[in-house]
Amino acid sequence: MHQDKPIVIAGAGIIGLFSAYFLNKSGHEVLIIDKDPGEDGCSFGNAGMVVPSHFIPLAAPGMIEKGLKWMFDSESPFYVKPRFSLDLLRWGVNFYQAANKAKVDKAVPALRDLGLLSKKLYQDFSKEAGFNFFFEEKGLLMLCKTGHTLEEESEVAHLANKIGIKADILSKEEVSKLEPELKPDVEGGILFPGDAHLYPNELIKNLKKHLAEQGVKFIYNAEITGFKKNGQSVEAVKISTPEEKTIACSKLVIATGSWSQNLGKLLNINLPIQAGKGYSITKKQAEGKNLKTPSILVEARVAITPMADDLIRFGGTMEIGGINDNINMNRVNGIIKAVPEYFPSYPIQTPPKEQIWYGLRPCSPDGLPYIGKAAENLYIASGHAMMGLSLAPGTGKLMQEIIEGKKPSVDISLYEPGRF
Ligand SMILES: Cc1cc2nc3c(=O)[nH]c(=O)nc-3n(C[C@H](O)[C@H](O)[C@H](O)COP(=O)(O)OP(=O)(O)OC[C@H]3O[C@@H](n4cnc5c(N)ncnc54)[C@H](O)[C@@H]3O)c2cc1C
Repeated sequence: MHQDKPIVIAGAGIIGLFSAYFLNKSGHEVLIIDKDPGEDGCSFGNAGMVVPSHFIPLAAPGMIEKGLKWMFDSESPFYVKPRFSLDLLRWGVNFYQAANKAKVDKAVPALRDLGLLSKKLYQDFSKEAGFNFFFEEKGLLMLCKTGHTLEEESEVAHLANKIGIKADILSKEEVSKLEPELKPDVEGGILFPGDAHLYPNELIKNLKKHLAEQGVKFIYNAEITGFKKNGQSVEAVKISTPEEKTIACSKLVIATGSWSQNLGKLLNINLPIQAGKGYSITKKQAEGKNLKTPSILVEARVAITPMADDLIRFGGTMEIGGINDNINMNRVNGIIKAVPEYFPSYPIQTPPKEQIWYGLRPCSPDGLPYIGKAAENLYIASGHAMMGLSLAPGTGKLMQEIIEGKKPSVDISLYEPGRF
């Protein structure tokens, strides 16, 4: 399909790359623009989990109480930094309004369907020639230290089985058979055998190489600073590289993660998004102590992913504190200290600051992504919060279908970009 002007995708994170993948495959000319060199960012150092089991959005009943409790603990897994910001205030109100049972009941099947679509696409994609991003289907273990947490997680497991996501409730003995290094007082866990994981850094490398070979163009180190519009239609994007340039587009996809609200403002679209900072530490597996199954230490909200043959990644915390590159060592210590609470003999120490990776999760207030058409030739693919890697192939496929006016593979009504 030859077009005079390309479809411009703003943002070379995992959502932008998968949107490019499906649009290019369907014959469109695509240009990706990113403000950074495309070598780091939220899509690189994340925990790499592909989790159809995560069908409950962040904005759920009980989260506000938990959040308030955690606010006063500097090593806790969730934190909202108090600051005067109208955007934060409005986001908080929207979060509060979304965190109720009726809204969550509606969101559950939508997230399940997008999660399952994405996992299926990852399975297909991992078999394509030239791709190896260490995709493994070993499931996900939710480890619970206390009986109370195990009870709460068992409720999620019952719901999962009801909606077609297999979940096994495991006793103390059963979890320690899967992970012999577990502390004996870990009460048990839930195994979601349908979950998978991969090595995100390698996935992105594979995707970029493939897209470049297929003729997708990239412009890096070019910040999008404005737009040229004609009525409802976006005719061009303005970039600063650092000199100003204008690039014509046939269509525009906003996939700029945590920065999408800023670009939305330039386009008169309200896209509430707060950056949720998280940290990760990647090490070689400790010999003789290898952890085998990706797990979440539920009480501590820490993710542990053995990945890429001999690596292991520890990730966690959700710090709603604006867009900045500060590293809060208290929060990092919170992750490190949680590990021996579950795996006492696993050797882990706080690494120096420069070895700590951080990423900014793009969090919408209702925990659902924005996927859809926002104006004449303007499309949004953003706000995936803690599930962007997991939901990226499905989002890319949906973008292609929406842009081509086809029936979307799954219901997208809850993802409407103009819902706030
Ligand atoms: C610790 C941690 C663990 C995580 N674990 C998982 C997990 O296991 N599974 C999972 O599914 N998700 C996980 N996530 C979440 C996941 O990483 C994100 O949801 C995902 O990376 C978001 O992708 P994105 O493409 O929307 O945004 P990004 O990756 O942030 O990409 C957006 C891009 O837009 C560019 N950009 C911004 N503004 C402009 C501009 N004005 N002009 C040009 N370019 C611009 C940025 O430079 C950036 O490259 C985790 C996140 C963290 C922090």
